[in-house]
Amino acid sequence: MTNIPHVVILGGGFGGLSSANELRNTLSSSQVKITVIDKKDWFMVGFAKLWIINGTRTFENSIGSLNELSKKEINFIKEEILEINFQNKNIKTKSQNITFDFLIISTGVVLAPQKIPGLVENGFNLYDHDQLLKIRDKLESIESGKIAISIMGMPYKCPPAPFEASLLIDSMLRKRGVRDSVQIDFYSPAPITLPAAGPEVSKKILELVNSEKITFHNSCKIKSVESKKLIFENSEADFDILLAIPPHIAPKIIYDSGLAKEPGFIPIDRDCKTPFENIFAIGDVTVLAVGEKMAVPKAGIFAEGEGITVAKNIISIIQLKEETVLFDGKGGCFIESGKDTASILEVDMFTNSKPSTSLSESTTDNLSKKKEFEKERLSKWL
Ligand SMILES: Cc1cc2nc3c(=O)[nH]c(=O)nc-3n(C[C@H](O)[C@H](O)[C@H](O)COP(=O)(O)OP(=O)(O)OC[C@H]3O[C@@H](n4cnc5c(N)ncnc54)[C@H](O)[C@@H]3O)c2cc1C
Repeated sequence: MTNIPHVVILGGGFGGLSSANELRNTLSSSQVKITVIDKKDWFMVGFAKLWIINGTRTFENSIGSLNELSKKEINFIKEEILEINFQNKNIKTKSQNITFDFLIISTGVVLAPQKIPGLVENGFNLYDHDQLLKIRDKLESIESGKIAISIMGMPYKCPPAPFEASLLIDSMLRKRGVRDSVQIDFYSPAPITLPAAGPEVSKKILELVNSEKITFHNSCKIKSVESKKLIFENSEADFDILLAIPPHIAPKIIYDSGLAKEPGFIPIDRDCKTPFENIFAIGDVTVLAVGEKMAVPKAGIFAEGEGITVAKNIISIIQLKEETVLFDGKGGCFIESGKDTASILEVDMFTNSKPSTSLSESTTDNLSKKKEFEKERLSKWL
């Protein structure tokens, strides 16, 4: 190790920013050097994308600048990461070679619409920040017809988000007075709405969307998309506007590194270690199994918790302490109703023998908490 240990963090999203801040809040710049690398220089809380779609937000008002990190003596490099070299403890970007003592991999997922034939040409990617304004324009101009929301691969990030999107779109159409002439259909490959949250919560989500006349179609495994038509393994469906949640894969650098096999993610345990010493992986790019059939869902709140866990463990190593903490698997996700209220889906992955989940009432107070959640992340991290 060099005199001042160097922690390099790949990705300035939920996981990267929580770990960088936890490290810096505990250790000064004479105790640890921290570098965050990201190809883009802004951070946005994922759910703000839906507010851009429904017109209550602009992109500019929803982002924080990663350049602000320098004020906390956290280096920020805006470049694409090209290679991770475990042996030489080195990260290669286009113009730099950066050596590290500790590495935190938090690169998130890559959205892969090209994996579904015809999707790029015929549908929108609901999660792509570049398509939000086009989606909004389409939704603002539809007078009648069919909107399809289709989940095209599992796992995908923030499992309740597409349901929330359907409710916000319902609300947009109601405000424009065209809801009665626009059908909203929701297609999922899963048998129930939120398999990770269990049957009881899934039933409540189903009731919630059904109460707004949004039809949930289960077990619809996508094969391809044609002009105005979804082709599933066992059926077909028409649409006028398609909002897809495309398959998620890991970035190429992760497959090239051998840490994960395509199309999967980096397997970790609750200590977020990889097989390499002092190299950790957190957030959406990982898979943390819970029992035999489940995994921690891909969500910012879990990436954040894992980031704090890893930072604490790196601090222990630097301070020559023995303690190791494990990620607690606890988190909550907001589900906005489209009626100026939100409910909170609370999740506890590990305390009991199986994950426990609960869905609160939809209230205005919870919607305020959601707005506060975003404000707090942007102000404390950047
Ligand atoms: C519509 C929507 C709503 C959501 N709502 C919620 C919610 O209510 N609650 C919640 O907890 N989560 C929510 N999420 C999910 C949440 O945004 C993600 O789970 C979270 O961002 C994952 O954090 P991460 O650090 O693993 O990855 P990310 O936040 O995706 O960060 C990864 C970063 O790595 C960078 N990167 C990747 N590869 C490279 C490379 N080769 N070179 C340079 N940089 C690279 C990327 O640019 C990115 O900035 C939502 C997501 C969406 C899309």
